[in-house]
Amino acid sequence: MSLKTRLLGLASLLIIISASASWMAYRELSADIIERWGKQVTEIQVRYDSARLLQSLEREIGLAGQMAQSSTLIQWAVDPDNPALTTGAIRQMESFRNNFRDNSYFVALRSNGHYYYNNADNQYAGDQFRYVLDPEKPDDAWFFQLIDEGRDFHLNVNPDQELGVTKLWIDVLMRDNNNDIIGMVGTGLNLDTFLQDIVDIGQDGITTLFVDYNGAIQLYRDRNYIDFASIIKPEGQKNTVDLLFESRQDKQQILGMLQMLKQRNGEDGAVESGFVTIDGRKHLAGVAFLPAIGWFEITLLDLNALVPTSYLWPLVTVFLVTLLVSLVVFHLIIQSRILNPVLGLEAAVTRLREGRFDLPYLPKPDNEIGRLVDHFEKMTATMRDTTAELERKVAQRTEELHRLARVDALTGLKNRRGLDEVIAQEIQRAERENKGFGLIWLDIDHFKSINDSRGHQAGDDILCRVALWLKAAVRPYDHPGRWGGDEFVVLLSPCDQDTLEQVAGRVCASVEQESQRTGIPVTVSVGGCFCQPGDDLDTLLRNADQALYEAKHKGRNQVCILDASDKESHPA
Ligand code: GH3
Ligand code: MG
Repeated sequence: MSLKTRLLGLASLLIIISASASWMAYRELSADIIERWGKQVTEIQVRYDSARLLQSLEREIGLAGQMAQSSTLIQWAVDPDNPALTTGAIRQMESFRNNFRDNSYFVALRSNGHYYYNNADNQYAGDQFRYVLDPEKPDDAWFFQLIDEGRDFHLNVNPDQELGVTKLWIDVLMRDNNNDIIGMVGTGLNLDTFLQDIVDIGQDGITTLFVDYNGAIQLYRDRNYIDFASIIKPEGQKNTVDLLFESRQDKQQILGMLQMLKQRNGEDGAVESGFVTIDGRKHLAGVAFLPAIGWFEITLLDLNALVPTSYLWPLVTVFLVTLLVSLVVFHLIIQSRILNPVLGLEAAVTRLREGRFDLPYLPKPDNEIGRLVDHFEKMTATMRDTTAELERKVAQRTEELHRLARVDALTGLKNRRGLDEVIAQEIQRAERENKGFGLIWLDIDHFKSINDSRGHQAGDDILCRVALWLKAAVRPYDHPGRWGGDEFVVLLSPCDQDTLEQVAGRVCASVEQESQRTGIPVTVSVGGCFCQPGDDLDTLLRNADQALYEAKHKGRNQVCILDASDKESHPA
């Protein structure tokens, strides 16, 4: 896997890890914020809904209370068969009817069970006495139940079979001077209108419902859940609020909240709240007790509706775009600051390994890699200089060795190898230019006896002197050399027969003169031959050897030049 892939992979991993961590932190934080916010909203909503309910009921309750305390009605209730009192009472009822919002009322007397009613249409004008309540009839049970309970005020949602209406009834007990219950008065509010005004207010994600002291649902947008006539139902058969929740935990929680608020007995503004699940959606439930009517108000906030998850899409989009942009930027930075310089460096190292010092352009970012590239360039320059210097020295040394290999260590003249090369070159040149050259071969006379009589070192000195004399006697462009032992060779080029004879004679005479001048008893025998184009080395050596032999043979310390006829007379 390339460095780039690894770095990008690592960057993605780190971004995803940190993003996941941030996401989890965000979820926690947002859940906390939503919870706090939701609780506040719930409390405000609960108070608002309660206020709305109370506002619309308070006046009616107040009027019903006044009606229950009407002395005209109380007197009549004590003596219901008195026609004068009855007429006055009915007039009184009718005056209240005009004041009630629903323009309806009911009055029920305990003593004879007579039930009076009139509505907004004044349908029962002159016929307000509707029927007689019967303790045996289930439909009338509410009346007797409320009297049994003895609570002065009660709200009751009840369909009235006799009257054919479903209303939210406001029931207030009527008492005489001894505080004995003598009847009940009240009014009804049209349930549908009421539900529409108070409960089904069409706020998305907000559900409001009212339950009575026992948790039985009284006002709810879905009429099927309303616990009609709950006053007369035994415990366990009521539609209580827990029906709205699926989980046992939620049911217990909501009932627990009711219980808690009951204990606090409507402490001013007390609201309980908690999370519940309805239809698989998370809701925040807020509950408040309304002591004025003995009911609870419950507000359910659908958090998904109020804070839809679609709100998060921009966040997710921002995250994905940020991730992408970060990766691209990271990639570009890595590319320009690390990868390109490293790849350039790698190519340069490969080049250097192949022995090429001419580095291409290397990017140098302002970081550790840039400094590394800089060091590498300097190191390469140093290596290039050092290598060039080494090569120069090796060449110099090789040339020196080459030269030394061709020089006689004792005399400083060319040695046999040096002479071989020069002669071979000269043979080629002669053939090429069709021009011969001269070769002189000389040998010190009786050198053995010099060695024997004066010692080997003295012999060496004489060899050196002869070399010096020889060098002085020939032209600068001739090639004098020591063939070996006491034998010396001079290659003369350019040369002709005369020059050959001259130089050979000069060499011989020069040695003799120097010998006499220095007192060193040494002479040389000199053989010379002229080499024709086409002669090979063997022929040359043989001819020169023959000439020398003749010089020795004729008595030494003399020159013998081999001419053409001699060559023929002494074939190889
Ligand atoms: P000739 O006149 O016939 O040449 O007699 P010669 O005694 O010189 O005989 P030859 O040339 O055959 O002998 C050469 C001698 O040179 C033999 C050897 O001892 C001596 N010699 C060869 N190389 C060296 C050297 O490097 N130093 C010294 N001191 N003597 C050498
Ligand atoms: Mg000799």
